[in-house]
Amino acid sequence: MSRPITAQINLDALAHNLHTARRSTSARIMAVIKADAYGHGLLRAAAALNEADGFALLDIQDAIALREAGFRQTILLLEGFFTADELQAVAQYDLSCVIHNDAQIALLDAYPKRGDLSVWLKVNSGMNRLGFTPENVAGAMARLRAHQAVADVTLMTHFAHADEVRGVAEQLETFHQVASDYRVPRSLANSAALLRYPHTHGDWARLGIMLYGASPFADKTAQELRLRPAMRLSSKLIAIQNLQRGDEIGYGAQFQATHNMRIGIVACGYADGYPRHAPNGTPVLVNGQRTQTLGRVSMDMLYVDLSPVLQAELGSEVVLWGEGMPVEEVARAAGTISYELLCGVTKRVPITVR
Ligand SMILES: *Cc1c(COP(=O)(O)O)cnc(C)c1O
Repeated sequence: MSRPITAQINLDALAHNLHTARRSTSARIMAVIKADAYGHGLLRAAAALNEADGFALLDIQDAIALREAGFRQTILLLEGFFTADELQAVAQYDLSCVIHNDAQIALLDAYPKRGDLSVWLKVNSGMNRLGFTPENVAGAMARLRAHQAVADVTLMTHFAHADEVRGVAEQLETFHQVASDYRVPRSLANSAALLRYPHTHGDWARLGIMLYGASPFADKTAQELRLRPAMRLSSKLIAIQNLQRGDEIGYGAQFQATHNMRIGIVACGYADGYPRHAPNGTPVLVNGQRTQTLGRVSMDMLYVDLSPVLQAELGSEVVLWGEGMPVEEVARAAGTISYELLCGVTKRVPITVR
């Protein structure tokens, strides 16, 4: 038998989450499938999300793979093109691209042909990551609209606080001030903005995390948002140890038994993508029952408390995250976010599809 860890992808959950998104907006939906579809597998996720109006990702090779697999929707490169060769491929494969700086416009100016490119002009409304500052939008817009290779322009921006108390108001105000001069399609909302701020929906919503069934909010669960987790990372107990009071476990003896207790050893470690920083007490399911991790996560294994799981035995199933064990909750315990855990599952973990 091989090592028992697997990441199981639930295709119905992906489709279900897309429908949930559909019901909450009349905007077109761009499924964000960057980072190998947040760890769910690019082509597999795209097929399950085929009802989306578009796909967004970073890597032009992935975009070409989608076209070659037969996807006809809008495909948006979230960082645009980086070289003249990539710009050629953008035109050849009918890809849409974000334009976020002058260097990209210079590449466009050097492009020798007429064309019918769809470009998404990115406005830096306060996040200060990508995009033209409000003062520079008009100049960029004029150059793009006059360009012989450009057929249409969409205005976009990205929120820094849509999932937090601070919200979107300041950035929205900045964006509107710039955008009000143009009658072009707009795209602002990520998952958090879609779920919380209907006035940000615009023409295209760019949705990632909610399609994978995780909540973007600390104060609302995925279940409350009618989302179903699409990934289940599970493994099995491959050893059991009976500890005496005072016994220590693992590297650095991060845990010491306060009473006689039974612990399980799970075939899952940080080399599988489980967070090494998960402290004692990170929630986990054993045999469908909630318990906690103990000790320091090692490369290939971690420890779980079997005190509340009397039926646990060698081979008992362990769910690290998935249905019944929200990935957001594991992430919070480990001081990170669901996004990092989902896209961090490593390539040695076999993927199965349900
Ligand atoms: C990743 C990304 C999104 C999707 O964000 P979620 O929070 O996963 O919905 C949207 N827009 C841009 C520009 C992104 O980089």
